[in-house]
Amino acid sequence: MLKPHALCRSVERIRPERLLSRGIRAAIVDLDNTLMPRDTGQVPPPVREWLRAMQDAGLPIVLVSNNWHRSAEEAARELGLPIVTKAVKPLPFAFWKALGLLGVRPRECAVIGDQLFTDVLGGRLVGCLTIMVPPQSSHDLPHTLVLRRLESLIMGKSAAELANEESSCG
Ligand SMILES: [Mg+2]
Repeated sequence: MLKPHALCRSVERIRPERLLSRGIRAAIVDLDNTLMPRDTGQVPPPVREWLRAMQDAGLPIVLVSNNWHRSAEEAARELGLPIVTKAVKPLPFAFWKALGLLGVRPRECAVIGDQLFTDVLGGRLVGCLTIMVPPQSSHDLPHTLVLRRLESLIMGKSAAELANEESSCG
């Protein structure tokens, strides 16, 4: 439950065609530190291109975020993506809601995020394929930084170190 199915150095390295070949039809994607660094709040151009490539490949995306601020909704609107906020990941409710919006079964959906205890655990609990990426920025909420120390203890290394050792992902 506390191990992602795959680790990628960044979201833009996740290849839509690989997901399709694994029977994936849609994706639930985390927002903070997965698509945009928490310190800048700006989605980098390569990430925007990846989002477009996913949708061009026929893989719709719903964002699921534990963030409860209006900024998360504004970011989603700017990206043109639906979002479920105040998700309380790893609880399953927001994932179920997103799966309903996407119209896919859990095993047809990838959950992509930067945190083991929210994105990976939550995605695993509902039966999705889970792909972890290292956080885009070391800037994060205090309780998240504590969780990251725990993540490294459980995984043996940080997500960034592990992702660097991976030859492929997705
Ligand atoms: Mg995150």
